[in-house]
Amino acid sequence: MTYPNTQLFINGQWQDAAEGRSLAVFNPATGKEIGRVAQAGKADLDRALEAAQKGFETWRDMPPADRAKIMRKAAGLIRERAAEIAPLLTQEQGKPLAEAKGETLAAADLIEWFADEGLRVYGRLVPSRGNLALRQMVVKDPVGPVAAFTPWNFPINQVVRKVGPALAAGCSMLVKAAEETPAGPAAFIKAFADAGIPPGVLQLVYGNPAEISGYLIPHPVIRKITFTGSTPVGKQLAALAGQHMKRVTMELGGHAPVIVCEDADIALAVKSAGGAKFRNAGQVCISPTRFLVHESIKNEFAQALAKYAQGLKVGDGLAEGTQMGPLANPRRLTAMAEFHEDAVKKGAQVLAGGKRMGDAGNFWEPTVLLDVPLEAKVFNDEPFGPVAGIRGFNKVEEAIAEANRLSFGLAGYGFTKSLKNADLLTRRVEVGMLWINMPAMPSAEMPFGGIKDSGYGSEGGPEALEAYLNVRSVAVMNV
Ligand code: NAD
Repeated sequence: MTYPNTQLFINGQWQDAAEGRSLAVFNPATGKEIGRVAQAGKADLDRALEAAQKGFETWRDMPPADRAKIMRKAAGLIRERAAEIAPLLTQEQGKPLAEAKGETLAAADLIEWFADEGLRVYGRLVPSRGNLALRQMVVKDPVGPVAAFTPWNFPINQVVRKVGPALAAGCSMLVKAAEETPAGPAAFIKAFADAGIPPGVLQLVYGNPAEISGYLIPHPVIRKITFTGSTPVGKQLAALAGQHMKRVTMELGGHAPVIVCEDADIALAVKSAGGAKFRNAGQVCISPTRFLVHESIKNEFAQALAKYAQGLKVGDGLAEGTQMGPLANPRRLTAMAEFHEDAVKKGAQVLAGGKRMGDAGNFWEPTVLLDVPLEAKVFNDEPFGPVAGIRGFNKVEEAIAEANRLSFGLAGYGFTKSLKNADLLTRRVEVGMLWINMPAMPSAEMPFGGIKDSGYGSEGGPEALEAYLNVRSVAVMNV
């Protein structure tokens, strides 16, 4: 299986870094180096910024239908190339090939949805209070060149959720994708280059994340920042953006509660929440993490979830039949060992997993812990790995209080057959996205984003476009 070196994409050209620097890329299933990625320096960023401004002016002035045509063509190329792109994601990130293919195809769908939505950026005509000669208009314009920072867990999906709405709104975008997973995003951006996107409209750089964000965020060319990643880094970047009065979208961490009520369909809850839990080895911001289960069904649910976890086929994502791959980097393996040791020391019972698998690659067993004490680290910090912690509750109000205890507010899940419980969860669980009686099913047309410390802004639905638009008020007196 081949894996390419990744270059920077600046002003319509694929190129090495001006200073010739590059970083190694590793396959998390083997720990071996598989390629290199160019590491941009200040000179590269300056060229990209100049091109981003010119690209913005070209793209802004292109009729939305022409922009949509290029976006749809790129989406078609991504779909056509999915079988070549997916193995890149698996090699650099570890996820099973089927998940990688799903991620690639979903990117094409998302681009198409936003291409169409770009045709519906409407303003308003507002009647004047008294003077018929006065035309009052609400006008929406693209904010300008955007800097986007994306993480390694969904190398393409995290980029597409930013690129789709930004391009549809008429913005140019300079993406700094994750250095650990560079080839997937490059293949995604290449589809746009091949579809004829003008130079500077969509660019891709890699390098030192803190240096790049520290340079781009304050830069006068950049008008908006969008970041997906951990809450601590998001807070730093939002603070820097605030100092420079830049618009911001922040998609940050979560610690998703799963409330399984007394009247839940247990088999459905295990299958849905279990599937969502171990997808991408739990390295998903909306991954279910705190399982809160009614005491009357807790043991039955816990045993069934443990059986589900033990039945998963873990291995190299490229191997036939693999259901869960390795963790994306050795840092996550260390984190899993720490979470596990801490939970067990504080009294959690291990029903499944709990160990590293083998000594090559970053494999961690799908793990289920029962009666996890509230003070355990895994019930407080985002686990971002294949660990399900279970606790019991007696009243649904107690479960809601636990769900809302943490400062995170990204995703939540509920399982119940009662309309009353479903309504209570809908009204009281403080999350940006709630799924009841189903696994997570984010789509292009629904808002995607968190509340509280999980960030602000949306990366789905028409709201995603609003994040890339300025609203202006124009009044014209007919003289
Ligand atoms: P991290 O917090 O160092 O990095 C997270 C991401 O932010 C990476 O892609 C990194 O390149 C980027 N980043 C870090 N510092 C940056 C800076 N100053 N400027 C711009 N980008 C910066 O941690 P990590 O070890 O890579 O990931 C671990 C944690 O990150 C996880 O536990 C999880 O909480 C969070 N995470 C969240 C998501 C998500 O989808 N929300 C994705 C990946 C990681």
